[in-house]
Amino acid sequence: MSLERLIRHARVVTCAGPGPLARARLGIIDDGAIGILGGRIAWVGPDHDRPRDAAEECDVRGRIVLPGLVDPHTHLVFGGSRVDELARKMAGEDYRAIAASGGGIASTVRATRAASEAQLFASARARALAMRSCGTTTVEVKSGYGLRLEDELRLLETARRLDDTGIVNTRRTLLGAHAIPPELRDDRAGYLAEVTGAMVPAAAAAGLAHACDVYLDEGAFSLEEARRVLVAARAHGLGVKAHIGQFADLGGAQLLAELGGLSGDHLEAVSDEGLRAMAQAGVRAVLLPGAWTTLRQAPPDARRMRALGVSIAVGTDCNPGTSPTTDLPLCAALAVRDAGLTMEEAVLAVTVEAARALGAPDVGQVAVGMRADLVCYDHDDPRVLAYAVGGLRARFVWLAGHRVPTADSDIAHAVGSETLEDLNRHGLW
Ligand SMILES: [Zn+2]
Repeated sequence: MSLERLIRHARVVTCAGPGPLARARLGIIDDGAIGILGGRIAWVGPDHDRPRDAAEECDVRGRIVLPGLVDPHTHLVFGGSRVDELARKMAGEDYRAIAASGGGIASTVRATRAASEAQLFASARARALAMRSCGTTTVEVKSGYGLRLEDELRLLETARRLDDTGIVNTRRTLLGAHAIPPELRDDRAGYLAEVTGAMVPAAAAAGLAHACDVYLDEGAFSLEEARRVLVAARAHGLGVKAHIGQFADLGGAQLLAELGGLSGDHLEAVSDEGLRAMAQAGVRAVLLPGAWTTLRQAPPDARRMRALGVSIAVGTDCNPGTSPTTDLPLCAALAVRDAGLTMEEAVLAVTVEAARALGAPDVGQVAVGMRADLVCYDHDDPRVLAYAVGGLRARFVWLAGHRVPTADSDIAHAVGSETLEDLNRHGLW
């Protein structure tokens, strides 16, 4: 075996250790080495047993190296900003009341439809680079701010460009059923027919989406509407998942269990019965601390989920309304403090469990055959991921075996605009 690259003297946190205890599952190799060939991990083990024929070596001197982090829930591609709306929320206005008055998702839909391809890509790229600087290499990206066929596909294509241009690895999700578009407010059935009959087949046929999501909650889509969308998605070979129980428990957990879903996301208000059904069917829970923090909600209880056997992942929910953050380690830290994950569980929640929540079999672990997406931090303890409350930055990131820049100056390049108006459109938020 002739390796292209060998990472040496790493404290390798494989996230591939034997279960069920989280500490053992971290699968740490002290003084380990990782060999890379053809964009994949070709060798992992103790440094003293390493292959000796690598073309290039990188000595990380005892620092931790983990699988590149996996963000299992984002709305990364959007136009506009909702700074104003946050001020209203903080002054006490209810999220659903703001949405009902034309704010919320509808305001982002207007701004997204009005944005050019170049604007959408520039701002999505800036956010993806910010994520990468924290160590995130795989990002789930949902559509859902187009709400008509050509715009939903445009958002998924923008996400695919992030892949094609080597920014991050993406897993793309059609979220046509995010809201009813304003122009069809009086024709729910007509819009649902467009989602199931046009968007789902088109996104699946073009290979633009891996999965399909529905916003199933009070004030959004009903259980029966969600079922129709997800059944159609499954028939077209897409994975299925849903936003469930963010405000009310409408039975989404049981629906996902019945349909063999990948994940149920949010879960601030889900019954034990629902969680039990998810556990039995292997549907993962995706917790979204950015949203419960912004909405000042009581967080879900990870202890309860653990006791009922539900596997937990954590995402940023990166979106302009309820979770304007790109910082996945920050979300891991909040999940520990607010929801009661252990620090070891939090590390697994943004690596191997997040990968499983996406149905992405080749990321989230340091093991032979996996994509060589890796991250190194200036620390020797992986729990640092859930320790820093924001601001943790990667020392090195490898994407498909290649070292990529992580400095904030790269993010500035994505802006490169002359006017303040441009800056507002191209920047992160
Ligand atoms: Zn979401």
